[in-house]
Amino acid sequence: MTVKFLDLKASFEEVQTEIADAVLATLQSGQYIGGPEVELFESEFAAYVEADHCVGVANGMDAIFLALKALGIGPGDEVIVPSNTFIATWLAVTQCGAVPVAVEPDDQTYNINPALIEDAVTERTTAIVPVHLYGLPADLDPILAIARKHGLRVIEDAAQAHGARYKGRRIGSHGDIVTWSFYPGKNLGAFGDGGAISTNDSELADRIEMLRNYGSRQRYYNEAVGYNSRLDSLQAAALRVKLRYLDMWNERRRVLANIYSEALRETSLRLPVLPSWAEPVWHLYCVRHIQRDGLREYLSAREIETLIHYPVPPHRQKAFEHMNIGEGAFPITEAMAAQLISLPIGPTMKAHDARRVANEIRSALELM
Ligand SMILES: *Cc1c(COP(=O)(O)O)cnc(C)c1O
Repeated sequence: MTVKFLDLKASFEEVQTEIADAVLATLQSGQYIGGPEVELFESEFAAYVEADHCVGVANGMDAIFLALKALGIGPGDEVIVPSNTFIATWLAVTQCGAVPVAVEPDDQTYNINPALIEDAVTERTTAIVPVHLYGLPADLDPILAIARKHGLRVIEDAAQAHGARYKGRRIGSHGDIVTWSFYPGKNLGAFGDGGAISTNDSELADRIEMLRNYGSRQRYYNEAVGYNSRLDSLQAAALRVKLRYLDMWNERRRVLANIYSEALRETSLRLPVLPSWAEPVWHLYCVRHIQRDGLREYLSAREIETLIHYPVPPHRQKAFEHMNIGEGAFPITEAMAAQLISLPIGPTMKAHDARRVANEIRSALELM
């Protein structure tokens, strides 16, 4: 492919020397679980996301799961989730024994539609998990107001939103707990799995710290049935280096997104919509077209790699067959799955490549 969807190797090469030094120093330290690298990353990431606390965990799905657990959510509880999210959001809910209750997105922003949430609240509802999809913050104020009114907790799935801002303040502490993934392809990605939670609630942070480590605060003394879900020291050391580049990398994504938005306006494509209160970080740049598959083939024939996020929504997956949610139950979500295409974007992609992608798309649309 002459234009890759995301070139992880190129972004590694940009920071190769610093990563190599950090990883080598950690290897030489003899401390491979916990220790100063994890603690330093936790405090640096908390400061970055404007939260009082951060706790590293093994991955982004565990971060949601442990957040739900820390809030005491389990069997008998219902948790409101977006119908159009990556399946991990739903799986974290089922993993703790609760039931995911899906709510459709706003058709413009693709984030959970606050106006539809109250209809989904029952006496079993205990939490709402908005997702800041594609790096665009969900509309948090009305969600937090509904949560307050009904006594619900809010866990934000921020796996795609490192650095994004909602009404001027970074995503990281608006809700009760905010969850992060450092999967390699995320805006802040490790060299393997990694995750974290951030929060302003010291008791919740403390509880998650205990749960991630076998339910233990003091070695060999276990106060809760816990889990093993820790952020590796080596990943933390690498993440500390990459965190210093995150704003610059997000800015490069924004430049590419602007090139697309400028070059593709007044076409038959539906472009991402930017609400005035959101500063997104362009984890993905998704456009919508009824002839999506034809467009993808056209681009692929010209060596431009695109992806679909996501081809099958959770309620149409075999894994959730038992919930008996039929086709057509979530029409906006299903239309998104049929019509969205994610264009190449990433911290090392060149502006001229984005222009070429846009030009090829314009040529393709003329033929359609
Ligand atoms: C990536 C992602 C996750 C899961 O993160 P992992 O680290 O892969 O477990 C959860 N939710 C969303 C929205 C994601 O994009």
